Amino acid sequence: MGLYTFAKQDDIDPQELKKLQEKFEKARQANANISDAVAATANAYGNVGDANGVTVQFSQNIQTGEGAAVSGSAVYNRDTGMFEYQCVVTINTKLTGVELEAAVGHEGSHVADGQAFVATIYENYDYDLSVLPTHYETEMKAYLITDEILRTANTNNLSFSTNKDPVLLGQNESRKKVEKKIKKY
Ligand SMILES: [Zn+2]
Repeated sequence: MGLYTFAKQDDIDPQELKKLQEKFEKARQANANISDAVAATANAYGNVGDANGVTVQFSQNIQTGEGAAVSGSAVYNRDTGMFEYQCVVTINTKLTGVELEAAVGHEGSHVADGQAFVATIYENYDYDLSVLPTHYETEMKAYLITDEILRTANTNNLSFSTNKDPVLLGQNESRKKVEKKIKKY
């Protein structure tokens, strides 16, 4: 599973950056203990250390509902002869506690989906489209992770909506109902 790295950032005070990095790693480790599904999102990052294609950075300008985002692509690695999923996960500097854990898990779910697809790309550019999730699929999967993390912490501070009714995530809605609503989206 490899190891993620933190981006070198001159825009954040070094001490502040160190705190953000420690908070991120703590949240990732907390997620690893929630369930197999959530642990898989923590493992997608790997451990902190040498590069595995996953870079984590912090920004105060992330405006998504989760307070985080990921962007990635398939890059050919000459040394291994394989394609690697290289991505940058951006976490809002203001996130803390369960909100941070939920964001780390949500984006980790997207990272896992990206890695799973890129792992099927061969040197001759054959790939298995059946494992390429649509934007919709990867998003709904990630929201189920968000829900599970909020539920574990007995909170309900997040909902999401696309063009339909908002779906409330966390303890004030039953997991069954969340799953049903997400399937209907
Ligand atoms: Zn998402």
